Amino acid sequence: MKKLVLASNNAKKMKELNALLAPLGFEVIPQGQLGIPEAEEPHCTFVENALAKARHAAQHAGLPALADDSGLCVRALGGAPGVISARYAGEPKSDARNNEKLLAELAGQSDRRAHFVSVLVLVRSADDPQPIIAEGEWHGEILATPRGAEGFGYDPLFYVPAQCMTAAELDADTKNRLSHRGQAMQRLIERLPTL
Ligand code: IMP
Repeated sequence: MKKLVLASNNAKKMKELNALLAPLGFEVIPQGQLGIPEAEEPHCTFVENALAKARHAAQHAGLPALADDSGLCVRALGGAPGVISARYAGEPKSDARNNEKLLAELAGQSDRRAHFVSVLVLVRSADDPQPIIAEGEWHGEILATPRGAEGFGYDPLFYVPAQCMTAAELDADTKNRLSHRGQAMQRLIERLPTL
């Protein structure tokens, strides 16, 4: 098995990634298991933050590393909340307050178009000159009231027209197949044989 450090300690992401990568001969190890601290995410783009996290993990572990960064971009808000999606309503981070703030910002706005973004970055080493970068986007609309109890984050407000449901009304398998993260993972996997 080829070892790959994951620049995240999120158990859900670990499980998803392991399921996808184990058949390809990769063992995904969370950075926390190696005592690696979380990296700063100071940048204003998803790709820069994901790259910073991947480099940081590879540097500490001396192994190839994989990082992701994701968020919601709302057209009428100039792409906000974007890279600060997790903490849109400030500290401590709260999905409920983030959703309330999003609704307040969009009050009276008829253009409700939005998309989720996921960027995955894999570096073979901390100074890899050619990281593998895979992106996914999932397009939808922001409802005026939440619907559904599955998922997390902005899912109850994110309506997917093709499914006639919010992301929080979709079952986990369907969401994983359609979502920004699912798409980015599929694209990453297609490029892994070049590693
Ligand atoms: P991170 O990439 O784990 O830092 O997540 C960024 C933030 O974007 C999350 O805390 C959520 O607020 C939002 N987000 C990312 N992906 C999703 C999703 O699939 N559903 C709902 N919210 C999401």
